[in-house]
Amino acid sequence: MIDFELPEPVKRQVEFITMMGQQVMRPVARYYDEHESERPWDYINMMWPTIMAQGGRSFSVEDDGGKKNGKPRIGHLMLIHVVEALSWGDAGLYLSTPGGALGGAAVDATGTPEQKERFLKRFREGEPKWAAMAMTESHAGSDTAAIRTSARLTEDGKHWVINGEKIFVTGGLMAAKESPGFVVVWATIDPAAGRGGMKPFVVEAGTPGMTVAKVEHKHGIRASDTASLVFQDCRIPFDNVLGSPEITKHDGSAESRKGFRGAMKTFDATRPAVAASALGIARASLEFVVSYLKEHDVQIRHGVPTNQQTAIERELLEMEAQHRAAWLLVLKAAVKMDARQENTLEASMAKVKAGAVANFVTQKAVELLGPEGYSCKLLLEKWMRDARINDIYEGTGQINRLIVARRILGYSSKELR
Ligand SMILES: Cc1cc2nc3c(=O)[nH]c(=O)nc-3n(C[C@H](O)[C@H](O)[C@H](O)COP(=O)(O)OP(=O)(O)OC[C@H]3O[C@@H](n4cnc5c(N)ncnc54)[C@H](O)[C@@H]3O)c2cc1C
Repeated sequence: MIDFELPEPVKRQVEFITMMGQQVMRPVARYYDEHESERPWDYINMMWPTIMAQGGRSFSVEDDGGKKNGKPRIGHLMLIHVVEALSWGDAGLYLSTPGGALGGAAVDATGTPEQKERFLKRFREGEPKWAAMAMTESHAGSDTAAIRTSARLTEDGKHWVINGEKIFVTGGLMAAKESPGFVVVWATIDPAAGRGGMKPFVVEAGTPGMTVAKVEHKHGIRASDTASLVFQDCRIPFDNVLGSPEITKHDGSAESRKGFRGAMKTFDATRPAVAASALGIARASLEFVVSYLKEHDVQIRHGVPTNQQTAIERELLEMEAQHRAAWLLVLKAAVKMDARQENTLEASMAKVKAGAVANFVTQKAVELLGPEGYSCKLLLEKWMRDARINDIYEGTGQINRLIVARRILGYSSKELR
């Protein structure tokens, strides 16, 4: 029997974040959208002690049979609810919230137990700090195997030297500058080896040779920084390579694909969270429209036969149905992650559907309210801009559709691309 009742700790957390969203995030959301280059320190300083009090933000994908002390794990169920509620408050501010974020997820998915302890413990103590993940390069976005950033082992074998440039790194400014944060940089140890040569490296904030070249001026999620990072003879300790320090083989064997698998494992954990963020924004728009219509004496009836529905009822019921369907996919992807079952298919399905639904719902919300919806007086037009990114990062809609198709039809990435 499937139990749809949320565990008590998740319910309490959602209630708390909803309160923070209403009282702390929404009032400053427009300000940080309009002052993109300012970091939201008031929000960060208020949020960090709260995060600390709750044990920090962390991911866990360890293979422990999906149970902790005999009880089912709920880490990812909690995560998607937290991300959804924070994004309902404001998606840009959510992305600025200190914590491990995508960089932490990469450590958790690919690091050794010692590395997880060393790099993730810091998110449970001290001052606010951030982690980011840098994969994308100017010529390597969807095609991650084409990355050119290189990592070379020094002759004495004690260090890696990283050279290259990464673009569009979410939280890259904060993670690269605010010690003791870090950036997980994907680099190749052998360009000829393609995916087999890719490895994740932890570069600590402030490491000489890592510089922030640019911070983007963006369409949405403007409270969050998106940076270009340059690595010029950036020297890091040997054991900052995540996972096995062994250089993987380049012979097409299972071992040779390990490097890339680490990236995929990271996405299996983070795509449901991105999907949840999309749906938090969509829910904010939906709820706003419903209460606006109510205030203007427009009734929305549920359970009315289609041939008796008004035009606006039909639109709203469709928005609600799409939103609900997408959320069920996100729940499935997260629950499978908690149960330590493979969830690549579900994670991509959830991401595709939620990205599309968030765009559909937020655009419809603007449309339904006419000039009011388009005006900057309300947050609706901002939510429409903020929603857009969810169909782009962590694999675009098209790329996640490809992953779904390959999984269902049984094609490899070479056969269907
Ligand atoms: C605000 C923002 C934040 C980001 N944050 C991060 C981050 O933290 N870390 C990081 O590493 N990257 C980040 N990215 C980069 C993001 O992941 C890439 O933009 C994305 O993967 C797409 O890559 P691309 O932009 O190079 O587009 P391209 O790969 O050049 O694709 C262009 C278009 O072609 C489509 N396309 C490509 N290949 C195929 C195919 N085989 N079949 C069908 N369609 C295809 C794509 O879907 C897309 O619509 C961020 C981007 C933005 C805008």
